[in-house]
Amino acid sequence: MPSDDLLTVTGLTQQFGGVKAVDNCDYVLQKGRLAAVIGPNGAGKSTLVNLIAGALPLQQGSVRLDGVEIGGWPAYKIAQHGVIRTFQVARGFDKLTVLENMMVAPLDQPGESLFNAVVRPGRGKAAEVKQVARALEFLNMFELYRLRNEYAGELSGGQRRLLELARALMGGPKLLLLDEPMAAISPVLVERIGQHLLQMQRLGITMLLVEHNLGVVEKFCDWVTVMVEGRAVVSGTMAQVREHPEVISAYLGREVVSATG
Ligand code: ADP
Ligand code: MG
Repeated sequence: MPSDDLLTVTGLTQQFGGVKAVDNCDYVLQKGRLAAVIGPNGAGKSTLVNLIAGALPLQQGSVRLDGVEIGGWPAYKIAQHGVIRTFQVARGFDKLTVLENMMVAPLDQPGESLFNAVVRPGRGKAAEVKQVARALEFLNMFELYRLRNEYAGELSGGQRRLLELARALMGGPKLLLLDEPMAAISPVLVERIGQHLLQMQRLGITMLLVEHNLGVVEKFCDWVTVMVEGRAVVSGTMAQVREHPEVISAYLGREVVSATG
């Protein structure tokens, strides 16, 4: 059954105590999209992303990637299958160089400790050299090449954000999950990261980003889904979504008007 759908989420539900963070949610994402999930605070956007990434154990529902059921798989296996969630560069990695940070991503693979990845020298030299070459290529792409031997702790907030994206590419993602990658950064850097996302889209990576800045969504994303109370209520282009009465009444009206001037 050929299909352009990369991700198909069906009947996904996540309950935290009495709270249904995700409530019988259906969501479909086509290959090649740079898609956004928007919606009010507490709508369940982060929980949806965490469930897709396997960061939370699946309670109910189905998550399929390229027709393969990945719902309920452990996070490392989902990552190996090509679903990569970006992580903030953790403080613990500050004493590693930028290049070393690239080499330890993605860390959530079993049997792969920081120590092994960085220190153990003998294992698969050729493969390692190849990985270094890849890492340098990605660092170059994100304009971090000249910083490759700096400690991550020396990077600015913006450079850390770029390093997070560069690291995510090391895992060879089919689907990249980004939870508010533009939060709390300057407009200049928002623009720069947006351009990098478009560049990654051109490389064939499908992306799903949670984003509250509707100007960003309008400018960079070609598919928008509005989540309200745990469900994806509307999907379409920003122009289509903006017109939807349910969306306007649920939350968008005022912000969209202001975002478009
Ligand atoms: P969003 O990202 O859209 O702001 P979240 O997915 O973070 O929303 O949260 C959805 C709901 O689930 C909220 O009511 C939130 O308080 C609750 N929630 C999220 N994560 C947890 C958790 N680990 N434990 C308990 N409640 C949670
Ligand atoms: Mg969130």
